Formats: sequence, C-alpha cells, structure tokens
Amino acid sequence: MKQKGLLYTGKAKSVFRTDVKGQLIVEFRDDITAFDGGKKDRLKNKGSYNAEVSAFIFQYLEKNGVKTHFLQMLDPRRMLVRELSMIPLEVIVRNVAAGSIVRNYPFKEGTKLNPPVIVIDYKDDSRHDPMLNDDLIVALGLATPTELEAVKKTALKINALLVKLMAAQGITLVDFKIEFGRGGRTIYLGDEISMDSMRLWDKKTKESLDKDVYRFDRGDVMATYNRVVKRITKTAARKKPVAKPRVAAKLKAAGKKTAKKGTAGKK
Ligand code: C5P
Repeated sequence: MKQKGLLYTGKAKSVFRTDVKGQLIVEFRDDITAFDGGKKDRLKNKGSYNAEVSAFIFQYLEKNGVKTHFLQMLDPRRMLVRELSMIPLEVIVRNVAAGSIVRNYPFKEGTKLNPPVIVIDYKDDSRHDPMLNDDLIVALGLATPTELEAVKKTALKINALLVKLMAAQGITLVDFKIEFGRGGRTIYLGDEISMDSMRLWDKKTKESLDKDVYRFDRGDVMATYNRVVKRITKTAARKKPVAKPRVAAKLKAAGKKTAKKGTAGKK
C-alpha cells in the first residue's frame, strides 16, 4: 500500500490518498491551533501523542461494537483509515458544564449534566461553527432524521464507553467532539478522539489534561499530553494481580510448606 497525493489538509491533520480503493492515510501533524486558528503553534511530538490516543480509543470502541474508520497505524503519526464521505457536523457530548456552554448559557462551570447534553454544530470555520438543531440539520440536507437518530445514539454509546475508560484512570470526561461519515450505507465514526477534541479533568485535582492547557496557557501542554497518553493507554497494559501471593497464603493457611522453605508468610 502506497501513499499518494494530498486530498485534504486541516488545521492539525492531513489526509492522503492511497493506491488502495476506499483507504486513506490520516497524518497527525505537530500543529496545534485554538480559537478558530487565532492561536497556533508547532509542538514536537504533538501529532504522535494524538495519533496514539486516537488509535487506542478507536480500537477500544470497535471492541465494544462502535464502527470507526480506523484500520491500522502505519507509523507513530500516520493512520490508515476507511474512506468516508464526511457529514459536516461536530457532535459534542457534555457530561459537565465547561467551555462554550458556560460562556453562552447560565451554567456554572463544573455542574454535572445528567443525562449528558448533546450539542451539534455546523462544521464551517467561516461561519464559526454555528450551533444547529434537528430541524436545521434536516432542512439543510446534512443528515436524514434516521441518520441523525443513529448519530445521537452512537454518540451517547461512545460517551458511556469513554466515561468508563477515563474513570479507570482517575480522569473525568467533561466533554468531547466527534465527527461521523458515510461509508456505503453505514455510518462510521471518523476524524479523531484525542486530547485536542476531549476536555479531561483529573478527578482529584481538577487539573486540565487537554487542549485547554494550550488555549489558556496553563502550563507545558506537551508534558501534559505525554502524561495523559500514558494514563489513557495504561488501561490496556495493566495486568491482573499475580495469583502467587494468594496461593502462598492459602498454602500457609493450610499449614503446608511452600517451595521456598521458610520464606512463605515472612514480612
Ligand atoms: O469549546 P467547547 O466548549 O464548545 O468545546 C466542547 C468540546 O469539543 C471540547 O472538548 C473541545 O475540545 C471540542 N471541540 C473540538 N473542535 C471544535 C470545537 C470543540 O474538538 N471545533
């Protein structure tokens, strides 16, 4: 499989054609932007951090029955994906009030949103991604009512899975943005899910672990991303406790001697 010409370039990713029909390569670049591109930088390793987390999350979602565009990683920053016809919607799921809904509505930052709130924006930088409602989405021909229902249902399923994944690492999933696309008649999750597109807070300290560190100059953003990648992907690597100590304890309780004479039960 060979990488061919550039198909599309966004603020932080580039998409390339391949010589295989229906497959594209997404390259996660080191560019980071905020405020509609008003703030931008290039930060070493940023692309590979986001690629690693995205790949990990896509595989976790696939294992749990969510269809995603992910096929495989080609190297630390290039992901082979299924070609989709993208739906220009930014689907945002919120579990805690933060960011734009605190600025735009009378929510107090940190208020729990239960059930989660779905907000859908029109993906159009020139219009500053205006918020849509169901009628506008259908009237604009962006999705059929059936597709919209499927998108919302899948977004909530993804939310439940990600809340669980993050909670296992002591992280609150405040909110996140996802995008979908059509592949034949099927709707797949596309784009990325990374520290750029999620808002993550440390459960104990409430420290920001995402792009807000960059947006609001809250510290060394790459050091944060590096730590978060390790925390998120650690879930998979974590091993079950070894059975040995329990076996030794059982043997001790039964009054038997363990293989290493005299060492069992020593403090
Ligand atoms: O800014 P706002 O609070 O609306 O963002 C909600 C969530 O969606 C945040 O996690 C943010 O990082 C993400 N988002 C995004 N891309 C956008 C807008 C928001 O990834 N264009």
